[in-house]
Amino acid sequence: MKDILSLVRPNIASLAPYSTARDEYKGDIGIFLDANENPFNNGYNRYPDPRQKALKARISVIKGIAHECIFIGNGSDEAIDLCFRIFCIPGVDNAIAIRPSYGMYRVAADINDIQLREVQLNSDFSLPVDILLAQADEHSKLLFLCSPNNPTGNCFPLVQMEELLNRFDGMVIVDEAYIDFAEQPTLLTLLDKHTNLIVLQTLSKAYGMAGLRLGLAFAAKEIIQLFSNVKYPYNINLSAMEHAERLLARDVCSEVDIIKKERTRVAKALAPLPCVLKVYPSDANFLLVKVTDADRLYNRLIEGGVIVRNRSRVKGCEDCLRITIGTPAENDNMLSIVSAFS
Ligand code: PMP
Repeated sequence: MKDILSLVRPNIASLAPYSTARDEYKGDIGIFLDANENPFNNGYNRYPDPRQKALKARISVIKGIAHECIFIGNGSDEAIDLCFRIFCIPGVDNAIAIRPSYGMYRVAADINDIQLREVQLNSDFSLPVDILLAQADEHSKLLFLCSPNNPTGNCFPLVQMEELLNRFDGMVIVDEAYIDFAEQPTLLTLLDKHTNLIVLQTLSKAYGMAGLRLGLAFAAKEIIQLFSNVKYPYNINLSAMEHAERLLARDVCSEVDIIKKERTRVAKALAPLPCVLKVYPSDANFLLVKVTDADRLYNRLIEGGVIVRNRSRVKGCEDCLRITIGTPAENDNMLSIVSAFS
């Protein structure tokens, strides 16, 4: 087993975390004169649970992961930032990531003054495993993978990700923001086997709660303890927790099914159009589409009130638009504009 705690920044390993008033008292009832709150009840006058016990209990059941192995962040963007803050010494350590991929790995690295060594995916968007590993030196603390990858839409083979987990001497972060749309299983089942694995998921995509800002990190309980020590004490607000608990009671399978069926329908409808050069296979809730003139089609879609993501300036995604799968009516609207484009 790898000694993951030796990867942690010394100042974080020895951090005495802020102890909130509510951390010290474990009961639910009493006269709370400890947190300088306004005592008059309006539903939100009290600080929220800093440990998010109720929400973690629900997520624990849904995901089959013990609550002490779950971190809830203000979006998975918070978890990405915390990975840098926990493991990487600014100006000294480095991280490795794939390109093209989700842009926040670079932004979080830059904010934390960490060198990000980006490795271009192969032209078919497959993982160059050996080239990724060749980037590593003794200061490489993190390796970011995203599967299904944004914006390319593909999953990486489990065997390759396991190979990286075995061969990389730092933490491997696998961002599974879009896993609920994929045929491939989650890496959550590998957490027991690989202590250097952090799996990121989010309630923003399949669970339909982007507005609540709730991201998830799953890892060994020692790692999750570090996330809890470093996060802002009340990083998840009461309103978000209440709404999430209510919304998690719904079954999102039918929505995910519709999105997946629409993904197939939209891909089939786009493929033969004259301006479409390629529709990449997708395991996510979007399609990456190579077109004859990305900028002009992007602007034409905007004129028609349809906003997509122009990825044509991203290396490896030249001439590509990334189109999110909407409702059937929204997709028809988009398709009619692309069909009429010449
Ligand atoms: N990871 C990936 C791969 C994403 O595409 C996104 C959002 N587009 C996120 C993470 C961020 O998710 P959240 O809303 O949980 O911050």
